Amino acid sequence: MTTIDALPVIQHWVGGGELTPTSSRTAPVFDPALGKQAKSVALAGPTEIDAAVAAAKAAFPAWRDTSMAKRQQVIFAFRELLNSRKSELAEIVTAEHGKVVSDALGEISRGLEVVELATGFPHLLKGEYSENVSTGVDVYSIKQPLGVVGIISPFNFPAMVPMWFFPIAIAAGNTVVLKPSEKNPSAANWLAALFAEAGLPDGVFNVLHGDKEAVDGLLNHGDVKSISFVGSTPIAQYIYETAAKNGKRVQALGGAKNHMLVLPDADLDLAADAAINAGFGSAGERCMAISVLVAVDTIADELVAKVQERMAGLRTGDGRRGCDMGPLITEAHRDKVAGYIDVADADGATVVVDGRGIEVDGDADGFWLGPTLIDHVPTSSSVYVDEIFGPVLSVVRVHSYEEGVELINNGTFGNGTAIFTNDGGVARRFQNEVEVGMIGVNVPIPVPVAYHSFGGVKDSIFGDSKAYGTAGFRFFTQEKAVTSRWLDPSHGGINLGFPQN
Ligand code: NAD
Repeated sequence: MTTIDALPVIQHWVGGGELTPTSSRTAPVFDPALGKQAKSVALAGPTEIDAAVAAAKAAFPAWRDTSMAKRQQVIFAFRELLNSRKSELAEIVTAEHGKVVSDALGEISRGLEVVELATGFPHLLKGEYSENVSTGVDVYSIKQPLGVVGIISPFNFPAMVPMWFFPIAIAAGNTVVLKPSEKNPSAANWLAALFAEAGLPDGVFNVLHGDKEAVDGLLNHGDVKSISFVGSTPIAQYIYETAAKNGKRVQALGGAKNHMLVLPDADLDLAADAAINAGFGSAGERCMAISVLVAVDTIADELVAKVQERMAGLRTGDGRRGCDMGPLITEAHRDKVAGYIDVADADGATVVVDGRGIEVDGDADGFWLGPTLIDHVPTSSSVYVDEIFGPVLSVVRVHSYEEGVELINNGTFGNGTAIFTNDGGVARRFQNEVEVGMIGVNVPIPVPVAYHSFGGVKDSIFGDSKAYGTAGFRFFTQEKAVTSRWLDPSHGGINLGFPQN
């Protein structure tokens, strides 16, 4: 039997290679489908935080001044390498997260989209030019990188969420310190090593592993110019407030509780498939998961029956064995999610399908909880109110479209939502009336493509900047306006008045 001391320790990636830490703190990294610790990860202390930021700071002047053509070649080479080796990364994601391999490949593809957007960055970094605003005077704007930028990412998308940010930040000429989740840290190192292979200079992309100490180190470091955070709402709020107080640019994306409203005229088979895919994909550990099915009561019984019937065909087990759904990330999280099924019973809801004690195609010690369906969930219950972040789909019945929209708008989160209907007029009304950032019309997981931007409203985001797309380029650049006059014999002489045309 391997002792914990003999397990591999994932190290920080700083200045183009592994950093030997001075801090002896580590955290366990599990294989959730085996329920066993597979590795450890180094946790940064002050020396490692300073080393990562110093490496990024040292690399910044040369990277900022590297021609756009050269930067573009490096990002293009990274895209090609990632595309050809994505199955390696998918295996790493599955081993540490538990999601099934096809789903891991899916998240990598969505991250690749942002890399592809970043290859076209020169177009997105163009400024504006106004000629002759005053006689012989031109005004133009230029977009420049910020410097060292910090990215702090969650466990549920260890490849995609970092890729929402670092390709754009690096394309724009910044240097990066990424602090990935300590629960599944290997994907970040793999991506950094691949970018180095693509020709990225040392120090442009650094990975700092750690917990709150590493996060606070970045939030309070004077050389870190911006923070991009994705995670749970309470931490997002803390990150936003602390970074803003420290004078940093900050975008902090938080949690979610996404509703899918199904109207009587919807195609109920399409809606049931969508509810299954968006409710149980990645074991519900997605910020765009559907966790509440809002059914208008005339079709609710039929819809619940269709969902229940499909759930019987889902195979839960080890993501490496071609199953539909994998385990949860940790034992503690599995127990917390399972606890909501007890709450549902106590609060008078109907547990239609109970995922506890499910038979799995995997090791008995894995962190398993099967797909769970709970009908008649009272909106006062914590099952309805809390972000559960597991394979638990609640059903709330309403009398009308209006009642459904009111329910959604009364929620504290505003990340994603979907409507299923065949009425174009009502769908159009929904997109206008619903207070949610990302909306699907007969589409259950409306994650926008890379050239649009990702972000919710209300408690799902702190700060006014969304991720990727044109918003990403705006976030990672600062604009300067230049008013310029080249010598002309018709200059006007001395004038102490405020310049005007
Ligand atoms: P989390 O908030 O626990 O952790 C996110 C990051 O914050 C990690 O890197 C972690 O190390 C760090 N962190 C944890 N506790 C901290 C503390 N006390 N102080 C400072 N830093 C701390 O989130 P998670 O469990 O890794 O991820 C799941 C959450 O992320 C869910 O709430 C989900 O909705 C959310 N999420 C949101 C989006 C979005 O785009 N809105 C996308 C993915 C995930």
